[in-house]
Amino acid sequence: MGEPIYDLAIIGGGINGCGIARDAAGRGLSVLLCEQGDLGGGTSSTSTKLIHGGLRYLEHYEFRLVREALREREVLLRMAPHIIWPMRFVLPHHLGLRPAWLLRLGLFLYDHLGGREILPGTRMLDLARDPAGAPLKPSFRRGFEYSDCWVEDSRLVVLNAMDAAARGATVRTRTRLVAAERDKAAWRLSLVDQHDGRRISVRARILVNATGPWVGTVLTEVIRAKTPARARLIKGSHIVVHKLFDHDRAYIFQNSDGRIIFAIPYEGDFTLIGTTDEEYRGDPRDVAASPAEIKYLCAAASEYFRAPVVPSDVVWTYAGVRPLYDDGASRAQEATRDYILELEAPKGAAPLLTIFGGKITTYRRLAEAVMERLAPFTRKAHPWTAGQPLPGGDFPPDGYEREVARLRADFPFLEGGHARRLVRAYGTRARTLLGSARSQADLGLYFGADLTEAEVGYLMDHEWAQSAEDVLWRRSKLGLRISAVEIAALEEFMAVRRRSAAPAA
Ligand SMILES: Cc1cc2nc3c(=O)[nH]c(=O)nc-3n(C[C@H](O)[C@H](O)[C@H](O)COP(=O)(O)OP(=O)(O)OC[C@H]3O[C@@H](n4cnc5c(N)ncnc54)[C@H](O)[C@@H]3O)c2cc1C
Repeated sequence: MGEPIYDLAIIGGGINGCGIARDAAGRGLSVLLCEQGDLGGGTSSTSTKLIHGGLRYLEHYEFRLVREALREREVLLRMAPHIIWPMRFVLPHHLGLRPAWLLRLGLFLYDHLGGREILPGTRMLDLARDPAGAPLKPSFRRGFEYSDCWVEDSRLVVLNAMDAAARGATVRTRTRLVAAERDKAAWRLSLVDQHDGRRISVRARILVNATGPWVGTVLTEVIRAKTPARARLIKGSHIVVHKLFDHDRAYIFQNSDGRIIFAIPYEGDFTLIGTTDEEYRGDPRDVAASPAEIKYLCAAASEYFRAPVVPSDVVWTYAGVRPLYDDGASRAQEATRDYILELEAPKGAAPLLTIFGGKITTYRRLAEAVMERLAPFTRKAHPWTAGQPLPGGDFPPDGYEREVARLRADFPFLEGGHARRLVRAYGTRARTLLGSARSQADLGLYFGADLTEAEVGYLMDHEWAQSAEDVLWRRSKLGLRISAVEIAALEEFMAVRRRSAAPAA
């Protein structure tokens, strides 16, 4: 048998690669998605997890990006109301930093640039009376409150991959592209299975490089393309502390260096604080929050909260690398957050499309733009993804509480917090996971927090999870609540099950 030939091979299982795979498969193309590690294992699990227009980008006149991103908020909210939800952001006015009139102008634009049907607009806050003022220093008397959305970033990646696979795409995780050659009108790709080192050879009519912060090295060292590697790597770190306030709104704080940081309610019991902006060199795999960044984030939060935040409060950190397009900006925070697509299609040779930049928020539009650029080769010009729910997201944007109530009615043994977490993670698919269970015991082994064998099995069979880390830090955030002994038991269970089970979905 000859090598399989795909219409489209996408390298990189981050949000952009998975979004393109879904869009392309839904248009009827045969698609291969190849990810060297776990889905979302790169930058797409290390974001601030906001579906946002990016208030700050208005200062850099990024109106195209901000408008598109603002519009996407409600499109995505409708597609995935389990993993995306509206959030209100409190912006305290800091005397001596941006003046109130400028904040008001920015928020007016923010409210009107992209249109809103679901999300409420901006309002003024009297922080001396509003509960949002209580955890802040008394000097913060006035503020504003506006809307954006929260997203479970790594779950968004996986749901796109699941939908791509349901529409016929082949998804290979733990598979790395090591060489690519143009062979007449198609690419010949050499892939290596990261488990056993096996080499796999496939062909594809079009190659898409969606490798995020690896885009430059994949271009120059693997594909050896002529496209110049215009990637600029900017590191960003976050810290997690026990919760600093008791309401469900987030804060956006201005810092005296012109940057902003967020303090966001996180996983019920925690507050997420981030992010930094630093030039990065080296392998994106090795990125980690430095002591200086942790100090910086603690100091920035302590400028606003009554109770100071100190490095010893930090229970977890994570860091990621923004794969930005190098537009020559001098400072990291000024480099464009917009995406750039570069198509290299010499006459008579298979096309290569390279993605620079992009945000979680704009991934769906980016995928549409990719398909538009490739339309002369694919003849598949019809966009379809807006309004098509992602797996488990087939309920209305305000229907979360109803879904929880329905799940509890059908599975009365589920404890309330467990049911809520399952609906947040899996939406209507929570029923597939629970199957015919009639009691807690029917969910099998118990691994700690509320993680059971039924859930781990579902994640391995339907969501490509292969290690405890995939389950605890990317398919969920149960890693915050589980002990080292429990992790070891989970790892062992998954290794045994992997050896005996058929390949994932
Ligand atoms: C600190 C921080 C905060 C952010 N906050 C937000 C936010 O709040 N909202 C927002 O919208 N955006 C945010 N972003 C931006 C957003 O996270 C990124 O733009 C987006 O995740 C990039 O996705 P990607 O698919 O391009 O890259 P990645 O997610 O990195 O995916 C690329 C994938 O390619 C794979 N790969 C690389 N080389 C190979 C190879 N040879 N073979 C096979 N696979 C390979 C990697 O393993 C990786 O999984 C933030 C980014 C950072 C760093």
